[in-house]
Amino acid sequence: MMPILLILAATASAPQGAWYQDTFTTKEGALQVVLVGHGSLMFTWKGVTVHVDPWSRVGNYAQLPKADLILITHGHRDHLDPEAISLIRTPATELVVCRSCEGKVEGAKVLANGQSLTAKGVGITAVPAYNLVHRRENGQPYHEKGDGNAYVLTFADLKVLVAGDTENVPELKELKGIHLAFLPMNLPYTMTPEMVADLARALRPKVLVPYHFGTSDLQQLVSLLADLPEVELRLPRKP
Ligand code: ZN
Ligand code: ZN
Repeated sequence: MMPILLILAATASAPQGAWYQDTFTTKEGALQVVLVGHGSLMFTWKGVTVHVDPWSRVGNYAQLPKADLILITHGHRDHLDPEAISLIRTPATELVVCRSCEGKVEGAKVLANGQSLTAKGVGITAVPAYNLVHRRENGQPYHEKGDGNAYVLTFADLKVLVAGDTENVPELKELKGIHLAFLPMNLPYTMTPEMVADLARALRPKVLVPYHFGTSDLQQLVSLLADLPEVELRLPRKP
């Protein structure tokens, strides 16, 4: 009976309508992970709540836990939403944003590509997130190198990659020791299933969760990674 009770307890604490939730073990306690929806994530660890790219269109932020830490990957409205931020921030909330978000969120620290800091006990490293291939009609990439961040979050001995909006760029392919990776795959702004698979083969996360996927076919990714059993694919579900 015990495992059933534990599952019920985990379900009861999940926000309604979340696309995915999971728990991982770290040397300093459990890390709870919730994909609130689209590109919006929430992590809870040692009593610290971290929201990444909270977007009020996919979550009821008035009812979600308040943030100890808020991270913003880039300035697009599905990632930088002042309304969601205002619903979860308190005077004690620390905010970390990308270079192109400078001045857009009051009191936020700017973390440029390549920079790191520790906030509320969580290690945060900003990694470039950008397009190499997919561009607007005027030739501009949807995401320009240097503007936005992917984040590597270190929870004690466990590293999580939140890739933001990006393609399979070399800076992400070089990362080592990632346990859990969230990789975006909506088109035309981010990655095709082939690009996600290519990044997964280089990055080798133990667990890969595609997110920010719009109408992309997740089953295609399942097929592309069928011969890579060392990367465990866990698929979110839109409610
Ligand atoms: Zn974007
Ligand atoms: Zn986006």
